[in-house]
Amino acid sequence: MRESRLGDAVNRQTKVAIIGAGPAGLMLAHLLTRAGIETVIFERHTRSYVENRIRAGILEYEVAALLRETGVGVRMDEVGFRHDGTNILFDGALHRLDFGALGKHVMLYSQHEVVRDLIAARLVAGGEIMFEAEVNAIENFNQGKPRICYRINGEAAELDCEIVAACDGFHGIGRASLPANLVREYDREYPFGWLGILAEAPPSMDELIYAHHDHGFALLSMRSASVSRLYLQCPLDADLAEWPDSRIWDELSTRLAHPGFSLTTGPIFQKNITPMRSYVAEPMQAGRLFLAGDAAHIVPPTGAKGLNAAVADAVILARAIEAEILTDDPAPLQNYTQTCLARIWKIERFSWLMTSMLHCFDDHSAFDRRIQRAELDYYVNTPTGRTSLIENYVGLPIEGV
Ligand SMILES: Cc1cc2nc3c(=O)[nH]c(=O)nc-3n(C[C@H](O)[C@H](O)[C@H](O)COP(=O)(O)OP(=O)(O)OC[C@H]3O[C@@H](n4cnc5c(N)ncnc54)[C@H](O)[C@@H]3O)c2cc1C
Repeated sequence: MRESRLGDAVNRQTKVAIIGAGPAGLMLAHLLTRAGIETVIFERHTRSYVENRIRAGILEYEVAALLRETGVGVRMDEVGFRHDGTNILFDGALHRLDFGALGKHVMLYSQHEVVRDLIAARLVAGGEIMFEAEVNAIENFNQGKPRICYRINGEAAELDCEIVAACDGFHGIGRASLPANLVREYDREYPFGWLGILAEAPPSMDELIYAHHDHGFALLSMRSASVSRLYLQCPLDADLAEWPDSRIWDELSTRLAHPGFSLTTGPIFQKNITPMRSYVAEPMQAGRLFLAGDAAHIVPPTGAKGLNAAVADAVILARAIEAEILTDDPAPLQNYTQTCLARIWKIERFSWLMTSMLHCFDDHSAFDRRIQRAELDYYVNTPTGRTSLIENYVGLPIEGV
């Protein structure tokens, strides 16, 4: 077991250097280790920090299948929840989308639990994760001999490698290291945020509810049989001090109201406001440096895609690295950006669609509101619309799974 905090302050080398122990970095390392390819992971935070960082919670069908097939799905199946449908609520009427129509499901299992399972599997397999190791430069990736410069325990150190995978999140060093004249950014910031809470309250429903209401969007979700996860659309500049628990519960009750429903309440133990953004950087590679996950793209959380998109990139990158190293085929790695972006832009489209369709926009005209209503009607009440929504929600196929 090599959970390294000290590292060796001398030159070292590996095949693939991975920056970031989030879902993308850990899944990439997991798949490469299974293929017999040596990797080192650098993570600037402690193990405890990354294992307790509360973020996403819905795993697409193929992502859940991948965890099972690669030996890291046992706890997910023990303590996670299988959902065979989800619900869209508008005009006070609940519309269930039945995933069974496509023979698929999603798993409700928290991101930090996936991270824990992947870290445990890596350490059991003898792989290395350098916690509290911050990468501060990626050198020579355009000359074919990349070098990672990092600091650990107050000391500077270096590691030579053949490939660098920057799985270092939206604010990481990977994307910032790409030549500025090479990168094109596509960006949309939404004019509202989400006020999210975690509460000691059994879920009011056994499936999620995505609600469109004149007051704004609301989402009912859950983390366990005793903990509810709920969100409210709020102004970007909302002040949490103006949202006492009673106001949050009242607003959730209003926005989620429908016949036969009653909201279970309980002590709120976490409250925060998250801004909403869509972003893609192209290309996702330069020389021997490859970006995966939030390092290259982010989505608003309405479609539950962030974690899933990060894992899909890791799968595509792992298959491409295996092709180059194990079968001497450089084409998949050369085409990495193209392969990922074909899928990513569909995920961006879906996340944008869910966000546009379900939220209230201050600048909407009466015409815009009628179009939005027609769109909701189309996606839940016509066979083609419903199938499209379900297909995207449970997840588009990932190449190589
Ligand atoms: C507050 C929050 C809530 C979210 N909620 C949802 C949700 O409800 N649903 C959903 O689908 N998605 C959600 N997301 C998005 C989802 O969590 C991300 O898409 C997912 O974490 C992306 O995984 P990743 O591995 O690409 O990046 P990350 O999980 O961000 O991992 C990157 C890792 O790299 C490390 N790192 C960065 N720079 C360096 C460096 N220089 N040296 C060493 N290590 C470094 C970081 O510490 C981090 O551990 C949320 C995100 C946030 C921030």
